[in-house]
Amino acid sequence: MAIVREIVVPAKEGRGLHMKAGQLLDIVDLDGQQVGDLVAWRRDDPSEYMSPTHTVSCNTSIMLRKGSRLFTNHRNPIFSIVRDDVERHDIIVPCCDHERFAHDFGIHDHPHCLGNLIQARDLLGEKVELHGEWAWNVFMHNHVTPEGKVVTDAAVHPAGSTITLRAEMDAVVLLSACPQDLTPCNAFNPTPMKLVLRDA
Ligand SMILES: [Zn+2]
Repeated sequence: MAIVREIVVPAKEGRGLHMKAGQLLDIVDLDGQQVGDLVAWRRDDPSEYMSPTHTVSCNTSIMLRKGSRLFTNHRNPIFSIVRDDVERHDIIVPCCDHERFAHDFGIHDHPHCLGNLIQARDLLGEKVELHGEWAWNVFMHNHVTPEGKVVTDAAVHPAGSTITLRAEMDAVVLLSACPQDLTPCNAFNPTPMKLVLRDA
């Protein structure tokens, strides 16, 4: 399968690309224990975007793995998962943002995923207003306790761990290499990731 593009997402930054329906996207954790926050929308109509809450509803599950699909706010599939080395992802919480670090840690100049996604959007020349609740948190090791508490565990997956998404529509895709270094989310050490776009 021919590689169309390879893009390194530097630690604590964001990058993106355009996908055609049927193309494959490998999201690779280069050094291990790193989480990536992904947003996407329909290329010819940005009012239709990947929606974590609709994805939970359509899958009747908060656990995505190989064979699962991700859905838009119009309940159309936007991605199918065709490979998943990790099978631990979070689809409950939004991506980290300025307020997360300001309110919870008293830090006002910490990098955050929403800013990284805006960086990725601007590098692509796209204009869509981004929202943290659009993000699906790839490789994030959250779990829900029987009491309903959402707990962030350290991601334990090794270097080279990959998830592969097949686009089910022409889409714009952005990924943030999450810069969270104050919780176990990225094992306190944010590192780079890689996007590999392939023709099927
Ligand atoms: Zn983050």
